[in-house]
Amino acid sequence: MKKKHLFSRKTARVLHDYVLKRYGDRGPAVWKATALRYNKLVREARGHGGRKDPHDRQTYDCILLYAFYRVAGKDLAREDLEGLAHEIFMVPLRQLARLFDARQQRNLDLMVSIISWLEEDQDKDRKPGTGQDKGRQPGTGLDKDRQPGTGEDKGSQLGTDLDKGGQPEEGFAEGPAQEASQDTDQKTGRPVMRLHFTDQEEAIDLFFANRTYLDGHNQNDYDYRMNKKGTTKEEYEAFARDQILEFSDQEIGLLVEGMQRIKNRFNRLGFSWPIQDPVVFIKTTMREEGDAAAYTHKNQIYLYENYCGYLDDEETRYEFDRILTHELFHLLTRYRPDFRRLMYDVIGFSVGPEPAFSQEVKNHIISNPDVERYDCYGFFTINGHPRECTIVFAAPDYNGEAMFTAAGPALVALDEPDRLIPLEEVEDFYDVIGKNTDYMIGAEECLADNFSYAVTFGKDYDYKTPEIIDRILDILCHYSSEGREAGS
Ligand SMILES: [Zn+2]
Repeated sequence: MKKKHLFSRKTARVLHDYVLKRYGDRGPAVWKATALRYNKLVREARGHGGRKDPHDRQTYDCILLYAFYRVAGKDLAREDLEGLAHEIFMVPLRQLARLFDARQQRNLDLMVSIISWLEEDQDKDRKPGTGQDKGRQPGTGLDKDRQPGTGEDKGSQLGTDLDKGGQPEEGFAEGPAQEASQDTDQKTGRPVMRLHFTDQEEAIDLFFANRTYLDGHNQNDYDYRMNKKGTTKEEYEAFARDQILEFSDQEIGLLVEGMQRIKNRFNRLGFSWPIQDPVVFIKTTMREEGDAAAYTHKNQIYLYENYCGYLDDEETRYEFDRILTHELFHLLTRYRPDFRRLMYDVIGFSVGPEPAFSQEVKNHIISNPDVERYDCYGFFTINGHPRECTIVFAAPDYNGEAMFTAAGPALVALDEPDRLIPLEEVEDFYDVIGKNTDYMIGAEECLADNFSYAVTFGKDYDYKTPEIIDRILDILCHYSSEGREAGS
């Protein structure tokens, strides 16, 4: 470090003091090694900007910290690194809160670069097939009040789940919420997964732009969501508007990290994200959707306001990544009908015209933004006869119960579209949709859960219906190459 110090003096001082304190006599040698590593990285890291821009300090500070991480290697626990990162970045950033807005592209890019580096190194250090997730039961669905299954899950912390190694990791790009983008990976010609975090104003606009969904609500939709009989559309929409919030920088950081873990898992499974539009994140209280944990519209993922709180608890940590993966499935089926058909076929569902529901049936189907159409059917045995049916999420007229308590799955037969068939009449419901999840309020939801398990935990998990997982993994592995050959 003889040349001009590109990083900030304060960072160097914090790190230097830390190294001396931690390593005692070895301190000066570790510091020197860090300096050499830093110089090497700076030489390699072309295009990180010039010295005139004060933001570049942050980049070089990151590189300095990363250099130390490389030198310290396994000596350094994740918590130590987080503590240092916090002291170096977050304390000054809080003072400069107005300068550091995680919604800005360059700041987001910076966070993503650092996380990618760390992830790559974690992957290199990791032994394959540690089997840490064995013996855990699949958890529950999307209701945040439900407790997930059991046991330790180290899998979701830094992706220790599916190490097949090898695939190069890619980063993210940031983009506007609506515009289709031409961003593609120059090597593979495939879309780059872009993330976008909305502020409150933009989030409200996007939410209300989905008129097809909002205008399709029936009286029960309004009543259950507002917990009040006779709710009007105007009341509900004013209420919904008040539930929309915006993310803190810290939350954005955690979500970017989570998405990077998921993306690394996709890469290892041989699956390339096929959607050019960005994945848009919106934060709400979720009261507008009956206290779900998350849901989607179009390319937007809406998350419960304390979603990042899943990370605070060892028992719920894995839900953070798993639910995000579940929501990504809804984007995939919405954007890619070919992907949807392949996935639905895993449980023997085919896609066709919607049943001609009677008004009475329509009045009792609770709208689910993730299920835009009831145009898919499987064969279920009812009173000894196989019948082609679709699964709906249905409830009696509003009775004071919470939405997810009152409503549940029911079937509607294609040849009898004026009757909701309760599950008690269905002899083989779980034989058809499998037993990996109890979240089965639609084929779409059941498959989204299976997809999320397959991606998060791979085969190394105590599934009750493992063949569903095997088929999903097989489709993921072949989908990208086949899609590309087909010119899509
Ligand atoms: Zn869902």
